[in-house]
Amino acid sequence: MRTISAKIPKKCWVGEQQKVCYATREEAEAAALVAEHDYGAPKLGVYKCEYGDHWHLSSHG
Ligand SMILES: [Zn+2]
Repeated sequence: MRTISAKIPKKCWVGEQQKVCYATREEAEAAALVAEHDYGAPKLGVYKCEYGDHWHLSSHG
C-alpha cells in the first residue's frame, strides 16, 4: 500500500477568522488568481503575516 501524503493547508488565526497560510508570496499570489478565476472573487491582495513567516490573502487589496 502506498501512503498518500495529502497536503493539508496550514492555517492561523488572524483576528476573528482563520486564514490559510502560504509559504511564499508567489504561492499566495497563485492562490489568489485561482480564487478569482474559480469563484469570481474580487481582486485579492497578498500580505505577510504579522504572526509568522508566511503569507495570507486579503480581500481588501
Ligand atoms: Zn498567519
